[in-house]
Amino acid sequence: MYIDAHNHLDFYGKELNKAINIINKNKIQTLACSMNEKSYLLAKDLSKNNPFIIPCFGIHPWNAHEYSNCLERFDKYLENTPIVGEIGLDFHWVLEEDKYPHQIKVLEYFFEKANKYNKITNLHTKGAEYEILKLIKQYNLKTPIIHWYSGPLDIFKKLLDYGCYFTIGVDIGYSKITEKIVKILPLEKILTETDGPTALEWINGQCSYPDYIINIVEEISILKGIPKEEIKEQIYNNFNLLFK
Ligand SMILES: [Zn+2]
Repeated sequence: MYIDAHNHLDFYGKELNKAINIINKNKIQTLACSMNEKSYLLAKDLSKNNPFIIPCFGIHPWNAHEYSNCLERFDKYLENTPIVGEIGLDFHWVLEEDKYPHQIKVLEYFFEKANKYNKITNLHTKGAEYEILKLIKQYNLKTPIIHWYSGPLDIFKKLLDYGCYFTIGVDIGYSKITEKIVKILPLEKILTETDGPTALEWINGQCSYPDYIINIVEEISILKGIPKEEIKEQIYNNFNLLFK
């Protein structure tokens, strides 16, 4: 089975059924991350009759400022969600610095609840890698999954030392940082992700579907010099171990 440990099913819009058929046909275990309450409820609904879809509740850092004063309403979701995400900080794409305290407040709320309910988190770290590392340590957070890491290599190594898993995504083959990370990353810490249909579009203008995960596994296989079937199985085992 393939693993897509960071997707956004709500981003497929009219193509959602096509995306789900691809998930089913290729047996892709998918973490359906949310941007907000609405996308979580959709993911939860889609997961009802589909064992390949695991809904994740989170508020994306881009949306954090909208919710920083009404966080208690999310307690009920956090108690039930299998994984917490997408959550994190973004000091790169979010340029308004007055939003950063809101992002931090929301993230601390999620970390506190993740600890309370013993949940794994799916983290966005763009431009705030150091702050994320500091908070992970401060909260003694359980094995986080770091999504699409593109920050400094020294912080990457510290996150790895902490025990984090890393999802390798659609920029493999395009990004020098990702290439370096894949080469350093121990096999037992690698996961794969597509990050929805728009991530590849951002890189090369093409919209992608969940089966792009097959290309990512092939690229990892080339960079690691290990047969793709072995890489696929290792990622599957990593994912299962994470959930034990
Ligand atoms: Zn995402």
